[in-house]
Amino acid sequence: MHYQGSIIRPPSEADAIILQVAVGCPHNRCTFCGAYREPEQRFQIKDEEFVERDLDFAARHCRRLTTVFLADGDALIIPQQRLLALCRRIREQLPWVRRISLYANCRTLLKRSPEELAALKAAGLGRIYMGLESGCDQVLRDISKGASAAEMVAAGRRAREAGIFLSVTCLLGIGGATRSQEHAKATAAVLSEMQPNQIAVLTLMLLDNTELGQAAKEGRFQLPSQSGLLHELRTMLDGLAEFRCQFHANHASNYFSLEGRLPKDRERFLAQIGCALAGTARLKPEWLRGL
Ligand code: SF4
Repeated sequence: MHYQGSIIRPPSEADAIILQVAVGCPHNRCTFCGAYREPEQRFQIKDEEFVERDLDFAARHCRRLTTVFLADGDALIIPQQRLLALCRRIREQLPWVRRISLYANCRTLLKRSPEELAALKAAGLGRIYMGLESGCDQVLRDISKGASAAEMVAAGRRAREAGIFLSVTCLLGIGGATRSQEHAKATAAVLSEMQPNQIAVLTLMLLDNTELGQAAKEGRFQLPSQSGLLHELRTMLDGLAEFRCQFHANHASNYFSLEGRLPKDRERFLAQIGCALAGTARLKPEWLRGL
C-alpha cells in the first residue's frame, strides 16, 4: 500500500484496510494538533493511480478485512462525484467489505447537502468520525477549530439524518485549567443536541510541535490537574441527556479507562470516576500514556 507521511486512524478502525486517498488535513490549524505538520504531509488529494494500485493490492491480500478506512484527516473533502465513484470501486473490487469510514471536518460536512450525504450512505459510506473537541465556543475559538458549537451540532445531525453512524471525539483538558468546567458542561450540552452514535473521550497531550504545546511551555496555557480532568469527565457524563450511544473513554491518552453504553452504564461510570477521585482506583502513569 502507498502511504505518505504518518497515517492516523481511529482506534475502532484497527482492523480496517487503510486506503490513503488524501494526505494531511486541509484545515491543519487546530492549535493542539501535531498530526500533519511535516512538509510531506501538506494537504493534497492523492492521484487516482495510487488509489487504484492500493485497491488492487487489497483485492489480492486483504480478503479477511471487512472495513475500509479512507485516510487522512478530512477525506470527505474529496469532491462528491469522485467520492461516490471511489465507494463504488471499493464495492466492486472488495465485495466482502461491509463498511467504509472516514474522518470529516465539521465545515466540510456542512458543505454536503442531506441528499449528497444520503447518496454517499447508499454507496457504502457507513461511518463518519468528527472531532468536536469542545462544545464551548470560546474554547473552539481559542484552539482555532474553525467551527462554532452550533455548526458542530448542525453537522453532526446532518450525518445522523443521512443514516450514517456518527462517532464524535472530545478532549478532556482542552479548555485548560481556567475553562475546565465550562468546557465540560458545554460539551455535554452539544453532545446532547447532536446525539452521536458514539462518543470518544480523549485527554489532551501537549505536543512540542504545536501552538498549544508552546503556550504551555511559556506559561500561557495550563492543563487541569488529574483530578480536574476526572471532574471534567464526571461533569460531561452528568450533563448528557438520555440517549443511546456507545461511550469510550479508553484511549491511550486517558489516565482512566471507561467503556460501555449509555444510558445503561452511566451509574457504573460515575461510580468508577468516584473511586478514581477518592484514590481507590489506579490511574495510568504518565509514561504509559500515548496518542
Ligand atoms: S481538523 Fe483534525 S486533523 Fe485537522 S488540524 Fe484539526 S484536529 Fe488536526
